[in-house]
Amino acid sequence: MQIRNPASVFVAAAVIVASVAIAADHDDDAIEKFDQIDKFRQLEEILPTPNAYRTASGAPGHGYWQQRADYEIDVEIDDDNQRLTGHETIHYFNNSPDTLRYLWVQLDANLYAPDSDAALISTAPRFEKMRPRDIKRLLKRAEFDGSATIERVVDADGDDLPHTIVKTMMRIDLPEPLAAGATTTFSIDWSYTINRSDEVRGRTACEYFEDDDNFLYEIAQWFPRMAPYNDVRGWHNKQFLGRGEFSLEFGNYLVRITVPADHVVASTGVLQNPDDVLTPRQRERLEIASRTDKPVFIVTPDEAKMNESSRSGDTRTWVYAAENVRDFAFATSRKFIWDAMLHDVEGNPVWAMSYYPNEGEPLWSRYSTHAIMHTLDVYSKYTFTYPYPVAISVNGPVGGMEYPMICFNGPRPEEDGTYSKRTKYGLISVIIHEVGHNYFPMIVNSDERQWTWMDEGLNTFVQYLTEQEWEEEYPSRRGEPRNIVGYMRSTNQVPIMTNSESLLQFGSNAYAKPATALNILRETILGRELFDFAFKEYARRWQFKAPMPADLFRSMEDASGIDLDWFWRGWFYTTDHTDIAIEGVKVYEMKTGDLDEDSAISKAERDDEPESLSERRNRALAKRTERFPELLDFYNEFDELDVTKDDRRRFQRFLDRLEDDDAEYLGREERFYVVDFRNKGGLVMPLILAIEYESGRTEELRIPAEIWRKDNERVSKLLLANEPIVRIELDPHLETADIDLSNNTWPPEPVESRFRLYKDRKDKNPMQELEQKLEDDVALDDEDEEEQKRKGDGWR
Ligand SMILES: [Zn+2]
Repeated sequence: MQIRNPASVFVAAAVIVASVAIAADHDDDAIEKFDQIDKFRQLEEILPTPNAYRTASGAPGHGYWQQRADYEIDVEIDDDNQRLTGHETIHYFNNSPDTLRYLWVQLDANLYAPDSDAALISTAPRFEKMRPRDIKRLLKRAEFDGSATIERVVDADGDDLPHTIVKTMMRIDLPEPLAAGATTTFSIDWSYTINRSDEVRGRTACEYFEDDDNFLYEIAQWFPRMAPYNDVRGWHNKQFLGRGEFSLEFGNYLVRITVPADHVVASTGVLQNPDDVLTPRQRERLEIASRTDKPVFIVTPDEAKMNESSRSGDTRTWVYAAENVRDFAFATSRKFIWDAMLHDVEGNPVWAMSYYPNEGEPLWSRYSTHAIMHTLDVYSKYTFTYPYPVAISVNGPVGGMEYPMICFNGPRPEEDGTYSKRTKYGLISVIIHEVGHNYFPMIVNSDERQWTWMDEGLNTFVQYLTEQEWEEEYPSRRGEPRNIVGYMRSTNQVPIMTNSESLLQFGSNAYAKPATALNILRETILGRELFDFAFKEYARRWQFKAPMPADLFRSMEDASGIDLDWFWRGWFYTTDHTDIAIEGVKVYEMKTGDLDEDSAISKAERDDEPESLSERRNRALAKRTERFPELLDFYNEFDELDVTKDDRRRFQRFLDRLEDDDAEYLGREERFYVVDFRNKGGLVMPLILAIEYESGRTEELRIPAEIWRKDNERVSKLLLANEPIVRIELDPHLETADIDLSNNTWPPEPVESRFRLYKDRKDKNPMQELEQKLEDDVALDDEDEEEQKRKGDGWR
């Protein structure tokens, strides 16, 4: 028998200890207390204490504040040398209650200094798998210098401001402290060399097209940007090491982008001078695109093809303005095809637009702008109405990267225009993902440098919902619990709550696991109605503000009315996995209440008991009582299962003492099934049971995770049944990412899988091996190329 009650363990242990103490040989180890960690203890012991800035409800508090930075920028792209030169004026609003004596600015381009921390801390590659292209990148990266040259930092009067460059940041010392509520203005001139994607990859790059000798620029992290100053960390001080993305303040932008006169520019914001930069024909097509239900070409594929051979010596300046954005990016090339459509998003008219070279066709004109509009529709439903006037998807050298109103996406078809299924869905998915980032983190402005999961995880979750509304059976990679099982089983893991730079298995940790956890929270723990209300409330509360993890955890509980501390603790703070087993089932039936009937049943049961081996062999032996019958007496006749007079008297006395309503419960026919569960994976999760009865009837029982609240390793559950249960299955709909299904059924069932017979293979001789090796290399390369196209530098 298992001792279930911890109290009885205590009693037993106490007795042992007492006797040991008398023996004067005290041993603390003998005191075995119930030592399980309480997986339901509240999170407040690790979450920050709520305050006037961030409340216990997860909402911004009455004292919430955030800084603001407005930018006016002139930038020019030198197409001959792939250099960027800029001049910016920053208006910085100190909305904090603090006086600031210095400001910090981020210089992300310094990631590409040859001696940057990112370069120094990069660990050795694996030479076993080195390809020519890898060697090229490795050597080019070592010699490339893309760091920013800071030409000048001056105040509003044009006087030099003392400044100190600290790796990827710059401190500007103010002549006068900046008081709470005050504003300061300063300007920076800078320049840097843009990395070429075939040499040094990144979130920003230019791509060289050899056939037509043209460049396509995707420009991001390109201007000195204010580092955030907030109530949680003061000045941001996590340097840019490459993985952890960006932490930024909101503000308004006016940007004048000067490029070769035959370039087309796609940018964050709204074009302010269409009459200066667009042809009458393009403006006319835009007008048509404002009242159509299908995307319209503003620059057609043929026109873009013709532009490829143009070589204008002039420049043209495109002026863009953007309000309330946390960043600004643009793309420029003479190769761009451009399609557009004005799309209504819950009453907000939004220009959905795509820019891509002919190399993106025919995929891009078919899917890109549709994917943008679909993303805005579905994300708005689950969060808030898309607030910006523009949403753009650009094809270029960057595999997948997001900025306010604009994102860069890599997938392209083959040169002959055909494409694989993987490329098609890779393209639609990456556009949904990157456009979706407008919501997280461009508007719900979480700190990516600290927590990759806060934007990638939430965004991947809504990406999954959006993909599933694209078409029936959309091949989503992430979101379904069963797809996370391999990762949950793996050993080289860290909790989701780990800093962006220290993550292992980046994509699974920061994208797939939080997305799946949210999907499980929605489908299995809270249900769609409660979850959707709470998730929308979190997004609404933190729209254009900067949430921290605690604000998400608290908001979801506050708005759903459900304590989820155990869920956040298990899924976000540990590497536990789900593996719950049915360990055993016992069935109890009550006696009938009729002494003779019970006696008959007991005798029948005894008769059913198997005869032991010795009993069977002994049966043949000659017995002494057969030779001397006088040795037999009363007890040789008496059956102890017989009902005696005394039994009847006692039973009658028992009945006499029963209250009337107690008597009703005698001889009930219910069966009492006690099912023993064992939590082998560590995660406490609900028990979802499919119960099948002898008659063929089935029933589903959903038991909340709190059943584990007193013992998170073993629990037993009573099931009342009116008829025999023939089968019990745990997690029948694969909702909990249980990593071992072989222990999920009672009675146990064999694990079924099909295998194929193979022919004996002879070892190859060296000449054959050489042939084989060449084939393998070719296959490997194709695979890699495909992956490259689909993901570029990976989704970000
Ligand atoms: Zn992403």
